[in-house]
Amino acid sequence: MKELNSRDKNYLLSTIRDVKDFPKPGIVFKDITTLLNDNKAFNFLMDHLIDRYRGYEIDFVAGIDSRGFIFGSPLAYALDVGFVPIRKSGKLPYTTIGEKYSLEYGFDEVEIHIDAFKNGIKNPKVLLIDDLIATGGTAKASANLINKAGANCIEACFILNLTFLQGDKELKEITKVYSVLDVD
Ligand code: AMP
Repeated sequence: MKELNSRDKNYLLSTIRDVKDFPKPGIVFKDITTLLNDNKAFNFLMDHLIDRYRGYEIDFVAGIDSRGFIFGSPLAYALDVGFVPIRKSGKLPYTTIGEKYSLEYGFDEVEIHIDAFKNGIKNPKVLLIDDLIATGGTAKASANLINKAGANCIEACFILNLTFLQGDKELKEITKVYSVLDVD
C-alpha cells in the first residue's frame, strides 16, 4: 500500500519542530503546529492520507483526543465516511465505554460513545488515527475500545512513530500499523 518516498518524508519531517524539555525535562516534543500552519505541507500530508485510504473501504475514521481530531476529521470528510472521537475520560456527554491504560505513574482512560458505530453497517471497518505513537498505550487502549464497541479496527495510522520506544510492537498484535514518518 501507498507510502511516501524518502525525499517526501524528509520534506514533511523538516516542517515539524522539535521542542526540547517539553512538557518536562528529557522529553523532545514533536510540535506539529509548524506542519499545520504550512498550507503546502498540510495539503501534501492530507493528500497522501486520502490517497492511501481511498482503497481501504473504511466505514469510519476514529481520531484520538486531541491531535488525532485534526487529521482524522478532514480525512473522514474526504473519504465520505463518519468521524468518531475517542476522548479522555469525562469529556463525552452520552453513555460511554472506557478502556484504562497504564502510564509511567498510575493510569489514564480513553472513552467512546456506546453507539459510536451504530449506523446500520454490521461490523464496520474503522481506521484509527493520531498524530504520534510513543509508548503505544493510548493507541492500544483506543484500538481495543473500537473493537469493544462492536467495530473492527483495521489499521492504526500515525503521522510520527518514535520507533526507539517500540510502541507499535504490542499494537501490531491487535491491528495493522502505518506511520507516515519514523523517528529513531
Ligand atoms: P503514548 O500513549 O505513549 O503512545 O503517547 C501518545 C500520545 O502522547 C499522543 O497522543 C501524542 O500526541 C502524545 N505524545 C507522546 N510523546 C510525545 C512527543 N514526544 N511529542 C509529541 N507528542 C507526544
